[in-house]
Amino acid sequence: MTTQLPHNVFSAAPDWDEAAYTAAHLSPIPVSIRLNPHKPAAIDYASEVPWSTGGRYLSERPSFTLDPLFHAGAYYVQEASSMLIEQAFRQFIDASKPIKALDLCAAPGGKSTLLASLLKPEDLLLSNEVIQTRAGILVENMTRWGQMNTWVSNNDPKDFKRLEGFFDLMLVDAPCSGSGLWRKDHKAIEEWSPANVNLCKERQQRILSDALPALKKDGILIYATCSFSPEENEQMLDWLVKEHNLSSLGLQLDGSWGVTETLSEQCQARGYRCYPWKLKGEGFFMAVFRKNEGFAADQLWSGSSKMKVDEKLLKRTAAAFQPYLKAPFALLQHQEMNYALHPEHMQHWAGLKSNLYIKKAGTTLGQLLKDVVPEHDLATSIYLSEEVPRVHLDFQEALRFLKKEAVQTDKGYKGWQVACYQQLGLGWGKWMPNRMNNYLPKSHRIRMDID
Ligand code: SAM
Repeated sequence: MTTQLPHNVFSAAPDWDEAAYTAAHLSPIPVSIRLNPHKPAAIDYASEVPWSTGGRYLSERPSFTLDPLFHAGAYYVQEASSMLIEQAFRQFIDASKPIKALDLCAAPGGKSTLLASLLKPEDLLLSNEVIQTRAGILVENMTRWGQMNTWVSNNDPKDFKRLEGFFDLMLVDAPCSGSGLWRKDHKAIEEWSPANVNLCKERQQRILSDALPALKKDGILIYATCSFSPEENEQMLDWLVKEHNLSSLGLQLDGSWGVTETLSEQCQARGYRCYPWKLKGEGFFMAVFRKNEGFAADQLWSGSSKMKVDEKLLKRTAAAFQPYLKAPFALLQHQEMNYALHPEHMQHWAGLKSNLYIKKAGTTLGQLLKDVVPEHDLATSIYLSEEVPRVHLDFQEALRFLKKEAVQTDKGYKGWQVACYQQLGLGWGKWMPNRMNNYLPKSHRIRMDID
């Protein structure tokens, strides 16, 4: 380690242990992934993350970039502590009715892919990211995950003020000073200062004040950081209770997991701290609240939804894409592109589209020109029909495909095929008698040298 670890700067944190903290920073970093329940694959692992159904520890860190299963969305690489979000979802979300969830600070998509795995098909998850380039990465990761009930937007938290009372669940995994990740990210140590912690706290307050109106009455807020500083954690809980009339909710956690329950000083709001010396994971903080005020808006209709629809074309297009998906869908046509939405989600399109910049809604299907021209999203969809032609690639071929190179052309393949590795779609290829065109989007391709 080149950067000096700051000492005695978190002593006000509950149950702080300076010696254990120092030792933890010199110990090996656990490697963990979370499996995609909709894309089963043969993956070796050392043990399970106790608080998350799909969480797995690996015995060593492989090259994820060179694993086709990673690109196919069979798993997401995520540090284990942040998977604790699953407990908040399971313990406080009513599974008996459809929900609308917002992940406000979502890129690169760790917690969004986790939430997506917990949703029912009729639930809707809107994953939002304010920074444009990061929103692009978020789209890539949600595309790999392959669900039809996840949408991505690229908005500032203040834009959500317009969606008053719309969401049943809001996750705010706030930008923070990042001290909980110092073991993994030495650069964050150099950027840390007490002044920066205060700036982060002010930004967290701004983000929450802007976005909270979009949470409906009785809706659930999950607030999380990867900071050790009480200013960004317990002090924020006091602020939330006092400024926003939220009720703190307590989680039932197995004592053997090593999570530390904390109480805020003024309002006794419950928080949950993951300390790297008490469990196999990085520093993480989480709290859960119920909103006591506000109203519930189940729809967000808006005048701008009065688009002219060519019913004949709509029917023809839906019929053309129907054989590609094995789940029922509603066809959305927008700017010459076709999308498959869960049929229950069409009612939300006009309202969300006229208030936010939606980068992706459901599954992008492709275009209907003379024939169907499929989009990448379709190849990685968990609903891709068995009828769609596939080419099964071995490991080396899959890596070549993922480098956006051509794969063998002499096996008699013809036309559009989904290139698969271990039954999971990687992308589209079009085979012709003497060549193969690789339609993997440039942004998804492996850039490193393989040989
Ligand atoms: N939830 C993500 C995950 O699990 O992969 C990690 C989110 S990270 C802790 C915080 C995110 O907030 C970053 O993507 C960052 O770009 C975004 N962010 C930064 N400033 C913001 C602001 N002023 N408002 C909203 N989000 C912001």
